[in-house]
Amino acid sequence: MPSLYDLSRPALGELLDDQPRYRVDQVWRGLYARGAALEDLTDVPAAVRARLTDAAPPALTPLAESVSQLGDTVKWLWGIRDHVGDATPDRPSDPAGDLAVETVLMHYAERSTVCVSTQAGCAMACGFCATGQAGFARHLSVGEIVEQVARARRRAADHDPSRRVSNVVFMGMGEPFANYDRTWAAVERIHDDMGISARHLTLSTVGIVPGIRRLATEDLPVNLAVSLHAANDELRERLVPVNARYPLAELHEACASYLEAKGRRLSFEWALIDGVNDRPSDIRELATYARPLRAHVNLIPLNPTPGFPVRGSAPERVRAFRDGLRAHGVNATIRQNRGTDIDAACGQLRATHASDAGVTTSSAVTVAPPTRMPPARPDLSVRRPPRRGPAPRP
Ligand code: SAH
Repeated sequence: MPSLYDLSRPALGELLDDQPRYRVDQVWRGLYARGAALEDLTDVPAAVRARLTDAAPPALTPLAESVSQLGDTVKWLWGIRDHVGDATPDRPSDPAGDLAVETVLMHYAERSTVCVSTQAGCAMACGFCATGQAGFARHLSVGEIVEQVARARRRAADHDPSRRVSNVVFMGMGEPFANYDRTWAAVERIHDDMGISARHLTLSTVGIVPGIRRLATEDLPVNLAVSLHAANDELRERLVPVNARYPLAELHEACASYLEAKGRRLSFEWALIDGVNDRPSDIRELATYARPLRAHVNLIPLNPTPGFPVRGSAPERVRAFRDGLRAHGVNATIRQNRGTDIDAACGQLRATHASDAGVTTSSAVTVAPPTRMPPARPDLSVRRPPRRGPAPRP
């Protein structure tokens, strides 16, 4: 059974083939252009709405919702059906018997941004990322991605009727380019039918080179963010294992071709990890890498996650890193860290709230700081087979 937002317009037409011709347009515009919930489309007869709900129910079941203390960040945990078989020890079901994904809505002075997931879990295995630590469950469907935006948009309007979600960032759980077709179909739906412009859509990738090359051939010039975190292959491979497959030189070429094709701003994400990638040599390497691409660097101190032993850089070190980049002619800003008190910050998204199902607000989540200083060369991988070469010191 397709979900409501998985229905294409022709499929909706088939479901409504006994209705007057204007009905399809009325429902489609109501759901996408107006952004209303199906049950609120009161100009559509109740019996028709009920039939639609039976044939194509919403995909996302609210399991928990958290609001930050300031009220400017909302995080949802959604239950989705697990279409890919039973739970395994690696991939346990949540208490609802389903998989869980998360969405974050952030209000800023001049915009509201929704951060959406593209997969339940992630196979990229970045050791510092909570989603990577949990492993991969399945791809999200087009409708599951689009419905996150639809729901966040309704919530933004509740917060302030003059508010509309203006920006969508594909930076939640999952790797968008590992689920390229569905992610791109969602981008088109969000652009074409919800009316969010391409310049306000950002895809964030761990650096899947074929995905970047394919993006360069698309019509819509969306923004591209690449999660770099290290600008030498040895370190990057430890932080971002997929670097072994798509090393920095290849990634650089793909980024250059995207720039050439689209002329959109490229940004690099850099989570600053204390003593690991916040050294003067990192500044130099990053500057050398970013400058020819005129890339903008977004710095963010690493958010603590349960499975990673190293902490984020201290604020003064973060500022020094930014200033160092600027001195090398690279545009760099420190990303405002949103939602840390509700576990909604970058890389923290993980269904740890599943057992809170039904709780509408949760207070600050405490994450224990590391109890020991990191070793000189910390093992940055998580649950990976032993690396070749000298073993990390204990
Ligand atoms: N897979 C995509 C999108 C999801 S991750 C990607 O890698 O870009 C979104 C961003 O959060 C990425 O830049 C990721 O590297 C970053 N991130 C992951 N874990 C983090 C953590 N613990 N602290 C700070 N940023 C983190």
